Amino acid sequence: MSKFVFVTGGVSSSLGKGLTASSLGRLLKCRGLRVTMCKLDPYINVDPGTMNPGEHGEVFVTEDGGETDLDLGHYERFIDENLGRSSNTTTGTIYSSVIAKERRGDYLGKTVQVIPHVTDEIKDRVLRLAGEDVDVVIVEIGGTVGDIEIVPFLEAIRQFRRDVGRQNVCYVHLTLVPYLAPSGEQKTKPTQHSVTELRSRGIQPDVIVCRSDKDISQGLKRKISLLCDVPIEAVISAIDAESIYEIPLVLHEEGLDAVICAILGIDPAQHPIALGDWEQLVHRVRTAEREVRIGVVGKYVNLPDAYLSVVEALRHAGFHHGVQVRLEWIDAEMVPDLVPSERLHELDGMVIPGGFGERGIEGMVAAARYAREHAIPCLGLCLGLQVMVVEVARDLAGLEGANSREFDSRTPHPVIDLMEDQADVVDKGGTMRLGAYPAMLSPGSQVAEIYGASAVTERHRHRYEVNPRYRARLEAAGLRCSGTSPDDRLVEFVELTDHPYWIGTQAHPEFKSRPDRPHPLFRALLGAALDRAEGREPRLIDIGDLDFVG
Ligand code: GLN
Repeated sequence: MSKFVFVTGGVSSSLGKGLTASSLGRLLKCRGLRVTMCKLDPYINVDPGTMNPGEHGEVFVTEDGGETDLDLGHYERFIDENLGRSSNTTTGTIYSSVIAKERRGDYLGKTVQVIPHVTDEIKDRVLRLAGEDVDVVIVEIGGTVGDIEIVPFLEAIRQFRRDVGRQNVCYVHLTLVPYLAPSGEQKTKPTQHSVTELRSRGIQPDVIVCRSDKDISQGLKRKISLLCDVPIEAVISAIDAESIYEIPLVLHEEGLDAVICAILGIDPAQHPIALGDWEQLVHRVRTAEREVRIGVVGKYVNLPDAYLSVVEALRHAGFHHGVQVRLEWIDAEMVPDLVPSERLHELDGMVIPGGFGERGIEGMVAAARYAREHAIPCLGLCLGLQVMVVEVARDLAGLEGANSREFDSRTPHPVIDLMEDQADVVDKGGTMRLGAYPAMLSPGSQVAEIYGASAVTERHRHRYEVNPRYRARLEAAGLRCSGTSPDDRLVEFVELTDHPYWIGTQAHPEFKSRPDRPHPLFRALLGAALDRAEGREPRLIDIGDLDFVG
């Protein structure tokens, strides 16, 4: 029988609930337990796919094409498992299915209510993740206790313990213990209030994780233990860590996994912890001395969370090479002004990430050109590939005014366009190419060498594609279409033959990078960037043993 851990948060948003849940997942995996995770998001959107990344952060895409909350990216990276769309549930999806059932008559004429119909639907979603092959399901509840939308979710997880048995459920509550400089004290009152709020919904937490920028003393833990009625060993101090990958070690030191195992009746002798590999990873993170500067040329640079998986993939590649990645956030709209300055030239490498809408496109095209002309390693992701193609079309193929139909509906040369079967679709939901698709790589191409494979699969999220009508002209101008869909209709990868690294992919490889298995495209990008940083002749780097499954 699977066990369940519910992680709620209080006091403030952005305390790192997702990272705490993910770190716990890693610790339980290090104890040899089979873990899966999910997020229950109380907002009304059906999925985050339609939300502005500049406000809400990245949309994380799963193998099966789910457009999910960015926390699922943390889950996958920490527990090293691919999750599916069913691992992210929102109020929107819950209500959609309750209303669909009502319309079908499934409720047999009953009045449809929050309790039991909505709460049953929530519990069902969690239960569906359990099974013979899962020891622990970790469920993060988005938002904070006290939010108006969270109430049905708290009610559902309260009932859950009665449904599946007390010994199979553990409630973890994350709070903030602020340090007040004028009085020189850490304050427990917000934690008390937050626990009171949780209790008012009928949930008594088993474990309280206290986020703080300073260690929480034994005395303070005793106070929280008394006031919130949890054993002192279940008051966990989670101080800020330098790297997110240190958090599992911090929480283990504090005994989080041991306490949770005890609550769930998991015998620690049968599941001793093996943290060696993770410690080694953290050691690599801490000891990296050399530095490379990578420019991220995008339009949501004011909220770096919009590119969370890209940043993490770059960091993973940095761990592999033993280098610190210094990120330079470059607002694409500013690029035309930067081209004459030294700023772009000082970069060791560049990423042009995904995006939607016209803003900043000309700057991205200019950045791609600059990277091409100055031998700066450059990786284009999805939209990044599209602007690279536009750049080659305009500058090398002489197709004046070439553009993507997304940005210029009247362009004389729509080198990027909707596929014919998509041209009439106007609905913004569910019309994209989403999830994992295979690609065949041309023998002898840079991408084939980098992946060490002739066929790969990567996750997609886009509407537009390289226009097949222009492919021959682009290739004649020097653009190598080095990866295509198996039927050769869609261009999946492009590169240049005479450049150390100028590669575009129609996919989002960043979603598949893991801290201890960096994605080959990012690993090779950083290798090329290191060559540039250290003044070596550009060459296609030797990427060593390939343990990445494309
Ligand atoms: N806007 C582009 C498209 O829809 C690229 C999308 C992306 O970068 N994810 O095709």
